[in-house]
Amino acid sequence: MTQRSEAPSAEAGKRILIVDDNPDNVEIINARLASRGFDVRTATDGQEALDAVDAEPPHLILLDVMMPRMDGYEVSRRIKNNAALPYIPIILVTARDSTADKVEGLDAGADDYITKPINFPELEARVRSMLRIKQLQDELDRKNQELEVANRKLKKLSITDGLTGLYNHRHIHELLIEEFERCKRSKQPVSIVMMDLDRFKQVNDTHGHPTGDVVLIDTARILRETAREIDRLGRYGGEEFIVILPETGEQEAAQFAERVRSRIEEFLFTDDAVELRMTVSSGVSTLSGDIDSPDKLLKRADEALYEAKETGRNQVIRSSEMNRAA
Ligand code: GH3
Ligand code: MG
Ligand code: MG
Repeated sequence: MTQRSEAPSAEAGKRILIVDDNPDNVEIINARLASRGFDVRTATDGQEALDAVDAEPPHLILLDVMMPRMDGYEVSRRIKNNAALPYIPIILVTARDSTADKVEGLDAGADDYITKPINFPELEARVRSMLRIKQLQDELDRKNQELEVANRKLKKLSITDGLTGLYNHRHIHELLIEEFERCKRSKQPVSIVMMDLDRFKQVNDTHGHPTGDVVLIDTARILRETAREIDRLGRYGGEEFIVILPETGEQEAAQFAERVRSRIEEFLFTDDAVELRMTVSSGVSTLSGDIDSPDKLLKRADEALYEAKETGRNQVIRSSEMNRAA
C-alpha cells in the first residue's frame, strides 16, 4: 500500500501560517512542513498574524499561545469573529498542558491544540486532519452559496410572469394587500389601474398567437417606461394588466393611465412584416373611506374598466366618476 506521505497529497501547496514569538520555533516547524510540500508563511506576533490572514487567508494556522502584546487566544478570537474570512482551522501550540488552558483555547474558537515540545508525527497528523475538515467546510460553504443563488432565482421566477417579466397574478395581488394595509395605516392614498387591451383576440385570430405575444411584451415595456420606480406592475390575466400606484391620488393615477393610453395608441406594434395599432381601456380606483379591503379596490377598478369597455374602449374611467353617474 502506498504511504500517505509519498502519495501526491491533496495537502501539498496548502498555505499554513505559523505564528510564534520565538523565531527558532517558527523555523523548526517551517522546515518540517515545507519539506512536506506545504506553502508555509510565518509571523512572530499576533498583529503580524492578523495582517497576514487579511492579506491572504491561509488554509490552516499553527498558533502559539504565549506571546507578548496579543496572546494566541486573542488572535484566535479575532479571526473566528471575522465574518469576512472563510473557515480557517486553528491549532494552538502550547507549552501549557492544563485542562483550563485547553478549555480557554477551544472557547476562543481554536479547533485543536498540540503541546510543546512538539511531536512532529502527531503535528502532521493533526494538520492533515484539520485540512480535511477545512476542505469539507469549504465544500459546504460553496454548496450553500450555490443554494442561495438558486433560491434567489427560484424566488424571482415564482413571482414573475414568464412572457412579460412583470409580476404575475399571485404576486401583484400580494403586493396589493401589502400596499393597501401600509397606506391605510399611514393614511396615504393608494390607487390602482386595471388595463385591458382592446380587441386583443383579433390580433391572435388575424396574425397568430406569437404576434399577440409580441404585443403583450411591448405593452409591458410601455408600462415600465411610463411608471415610476415605486409603482408596481403586474400581468393580471391574458391581456389584462394592473398597476399599483402608492402615495397617489385618483387624479394622478388617471393621468398615468391616460399617458399609457395615449402611448399605446401612438405606438406602431411590429412583428416582422406585421404592423399593428392597438388601444387600451383602463379603470382607476383609489383608497377612500368606503373601501375597506384590497378586493373592494380591485372590484371598483374592474367596474370602471368594464364601463370603459362598454362605452367605447380606448379610454380611462375613474371609479368615482362612475359612482357620480350612477
Ligand atoms: P376586449 O376589447 O373586450 O377586451 O376584447 P378582447 O378581444 O381583448 O378580449 P377577450 O377577453 O375576448 O380576448 C382576450 C384574448 O387574449 C383571448 C386569449 O386567447 C388571448 N390571450 C390570453 N393570454 C394570451 C397570451 O399569453 N398570449 C396571446 N398571444 N394571447 C393571449
Ligand atoms: Mg381585451
Ligand atoms: Mg380580457
